[in-house]
Amino acid sequence: MKDNTHPGYYETVIRCACGNEIPTGSTKKEIRVEICSKCHPFYTGKQKLVDSAGRIERFLKKYEKFQNKEEKPGEK
Ligand SMILES: [Zn+2]
Repeated sequence: MKDNTHPGYYETVIRCACGNEIPTGSTKKEIRVEICSKCHPFYTGKQKLVDSAGRIERFLKKYEKFQNKEEKPGEK
């Protein structure tokens, strides 16, 4: 017997854009991702996005204004 690895199955590393490397096994020799469990906002709980130019913050402020405007009665 040679080894019990499946043919075409490699020990590889998922390389994330944030620099994180996740050792894994895959049929692909190299995997590149732009977001991983380390830098994904869902896991970090922070809004650390690629376009961190404050766009989201601005949008939220706009949205807040919009909501306040709507709540005011008689303003059309
Ligand atoms: Zn990452």
